[in-house]
Amino acid sequence: MKITFNGAAKTVTGSCHLIETDNVKFLLDCGLFQGKEKVEELNRKFSFKPQEVDFVILSHGHLDHCGRFPFLVKKGFRGKIYATKGTIDIARLILMDAAQVMEENLKTENRRRLREGLPPKELLYTLDDVFDVFDFFVPIEYSRWYEVGNVKFRLRDAGHILCSSFVELEIEGKKILFSGDLGAENKPLIREPEIPEKSDVILIETTYGNREHKSYEESVKEFEEAVLETFERGGVVLIPTFALERAQDVIYLLKKIYEKGKLPKCKIFVDSPLAISITRVFKRHKECLRENVRSGDIFDFPYLEFTRTVEESKRINEYRGVGVIIAGNGMCTGGRILHHLKHRLWDKRNSIIFVGYQAEGTLGREIVEGAKKVKVFNERIAVKAEVFTINGFSSHAGRSGLLNWLRKGVKEESKVFLVHGEEKAAKSFATLVNSELGLQPIIPDIFASFSL
Ligand SMILES: [Zn+2]
Repeated sequence: MKITFNGAAKTVTGSCHLIETDNVKFLLDCGLFQGKEKVEELNRKFSFKPQEVDFVILSHGHLDHCGRFPFLVKKGFRGKIYATKGTIDIARLILMDAAQVMEENLKTENRRRLREGLPPKELLYTLDDVFDVFDFFVPIEYSRWYEVGNVKFRLRDAGHILCSSFVELEIEGKKILFSGDLGAENKPLIREPEIPEKSDVILIETTYGNREHKSYEESVKEFEEAVLETFERGGVVLIPTFALERAQDVIYLLKKIYEKGKLPKCKIFVDSPLAISITRVFKRHKECLRENVRSGDIFDFPYLEFTRTVEESKRINEYRGVGVIIAGNGMCTGGRILHHLKHRLWDKRNSIIFVGYQAEGTLGREIVEGAKKVKVFNERIAVKAEVFTINGFSSHAGRSGLLNWLRKGVKEESKVFLVHGEEKAAKSFATLVNSELGLQPIIPDIFASFSL
């Protein structure tokens, strides 16, 4: 049996691992590489022939785990893609959105290339290619064992995002464990990661292998204070956020403030069609939520407004009362948040609350780092609004959360591969694993193969 790493090797994106036995070839995830360097080339490169892959097991619906499916199918894959029902619902929405965003971005880029005398670039895949993927999804249940060829596998709750999984496999007498992405503790809606079985081979993510998060409770308090302070001075709170998970957490937290009787009359705009659709998926898949939030409507309260259309979104610009605008994208590199920034960032009564990571080179990062003026739609806008950065809302386990989970899954002689982390994070975690568990983890390079 052999494993070949086709992504998330010394980086956090492109999760895709090929396992080959004598009679079966299958993938764990097939995610998109994101970011700037070399991603276009990497997204088109597999170490295998897609038509020879028998099936895929998908851990969860984030784009860096499912985003290459349309390309895989375009190149000849015709097998089944196993995942939880909720993951399939999310992956459908995420893939459609990704195809649309890619198409829009490429149009702009190709116009620029044309003016520069360069040939146009080709899309990795289109919306039609995305629809082709839907035929191959097969929903499976948590905890139940399935068997394909000589491969037995089951999904367990990874506690990362709605209906996310880690995967336990039994092949040729060996137990293999793939973490997918692991969740943090104490999140309001999603359960904690389940305890894995002892395994011979373990692939574990290391996104935060070198860091701990601030406590969730502390972050909730900071969030509440930031919102209420802004309301007191008659301002509007802007929250740039990802449509999946963080947006729902934020809506839920605002509802909690409302239930405590602390929220004055205001408007809470959820200004993102994708976030609105995903909020509905949450309501459809309550089986994946914590027990205490399963009954009743977890999100609805009187001040909440979902704005799906562009017209509704533009109308928010005329709103003069106190309120919150939740809009994408999370790093302010595009999406509806941009026109809200243009209309609100220069007013010192307002605030902007960052609830997620801001990568280098993004507009979000510029604001977090204290820029006095920023460029939005080619216009210079003064940053007078108060800026808050809240660090404790991550959907990933921190360093000690990862170690605790791994501790439960290892045996004395387990082979541990560290994936889905920048090299710095993976190396730091390797040192920890070595000192705490006495193992020598491997940090694989992209396209490296190992026999298991
Ligand atoms: Zn993820």
